[in-house]
Amino acid sequence: MKYISTRGGMAPQGFSDILLEGLAPDGGLAIPETLPTVTAEQLQAWRALPYHALATEILSLFITDIPRAVLEGLTREAYRPESFQSEEIVPLRNLDGGMYLLGLSEGPTLAFKDMAMQFLGQVFPYVLRERGTTLNILGATSGDTGSAAEYAMRGKDSVAVFMLSPQGRMSAFQRAQMYSLQDANIHNIAVKGNFDEAQDVVKALASDLAFKSEYHLGAVNSINWARIAAQVVYYFHGWMRATTRADQQVSFAVPSGNFGNILAGHIARSMGLPIRRLVLATNENNVLEEFFRTGIYRPRSAQQTYVTSSPSMDISRASNFERFVYDLVGRDPARVSALWKQLSTEGFFDLSAQKPEFEARYGFQAGCSAHHHRLDTIRSVMDRTGVLIDPHTADGVFVATPLVEPGIPMLVLETALPAKFSEVIEEALGRPVPMPSGLEDLESREQKVVELPCDAASIRAYIIEHAQK
Ligand SMILES: *Cc1c(COP(=O)(O)O)cnc(C)c1O
Repeated sequence: MKYISTRGGMAPQGFSDILLEGLAPDGGLAIPETLPTVTAEQLQAWRALPYHALATEILSLFITDIPRAVLEGLTREAYRPESFQSEEIVPLRNLDGGMYLLGLSEGPTLAFKDMAMQFLGQVFPYVLRERGTTLNILGATSGDTGSAAEYAMRGKDSVAVFMLSPQGRMSAFQRAQMYSLQDANIHNIAVKGNFDEAQDVVKALASDLAFKSEYHLGAVNSINWARIAAQVVYYFHGWMRATTRADQQVSFAVPSGNFGNILAGHIARSMGLPIRRLVLATNENNVLEEFFRTGIYRPRSAQQTYVTSSPSMDISRASNFERFVYDLVGRDPARVSALWKQLSTEGFFDLSAQKPEFEARYGFQAGCSAHHHRLDTIRSVMDRTGVLIDPHTADGVFVATPLVEPGIPMLVLETALPAKFSEVIEEALGRPVPMPSGLEDLESREQKVVELPCDAASIRAYIIEHAQK
């Protein structure tokens, strides 16, 4: 399996090579040269596997430069019942009306980002050891990526994490979760700006190739292909838990921001997993919903990005979207380059001519929710089923509800646990969420964070001083 760039300017490379890189050298994103496919026989045979073994099967299709026996050890370590609350790792719960909840948030930071990041926490140190090198992970987080990366990498020698977070834009729980880590290799940097502005700083530093190579900069944001590959696994797992026969279809509803989670669903579907619909759900920051409704992609500025009650989706430029557009335009790198050039000069591109394919060929449907929809949904799911969902998951349930089809299970991805967003739950239900056991004192633990201006020069200076050599 070799990887190329969506913009055509990268010689084919192995998984371990692209693992440690952010953007491809031409500014594009790494994607498999050809996508692996699965057969009905494989699907049936994999039903009996525990999560880590299913992960080995699927990841070995994407990772051919790590011996299978090694990969088996990495997935076994990444997906241990002790880290994910149960033997199932990803439980499937019945809601009602044909809807199910795929529990992706049972990991150490209570959000779906752990699903991929726990694997990165195994595969990064392995590849670094093999190559005798170190890695300084630089990222920006709107909340959940940062903590998942930090919990996956804490205490790992050869890796340091520099995580930019937008000051005052995360919940108290999210802040406490990240900033309470005292490990020497974890650096929390609060910047005065929103997520997109913080990500711009990351992109600026990562595109300074001399700096990047001298300080071994790497990324764990959702453009990292290994994360997408690891996320593909739970689409297979969810399908297996919701069906008994290889010809049965399910649909997935995905609360979306950077288009990383649902891209993994698109990959799974393209590999031959019987997925009927991929329902993309956004909050008020509905750039992606607008694209699927109109065919026009028009990212918004930081000033036009709302602060919402589902903050992990407050994103107006979806960094993974380019990988999907690559497929939409017939895997033509010249067209992708032209579209992104147009984005930078005119601020939008128009694929409305292909709108009929979005659903008919790719299975996409889309919708968005407002704050009051999410509150109502949290209340009504609680009333009807006794299940408490978080505001991001509520967005998925709200958008999916009118789209459920008879006989087709609708699996809503639970992207975070409600304890992470207790303020919103309290607004919806009139009572806070009890802290999960072991985390009762989280918000009163000592915090370690530095405040820096949201500009590349300041962050660069800090990295130079604190990098893992
Ligand atoms: C990251 C995140 C999302 C959005 O996922 P993308 O892969 O960026 O589309 C949704 N909900 C929660 C809780 C998240 O942490």
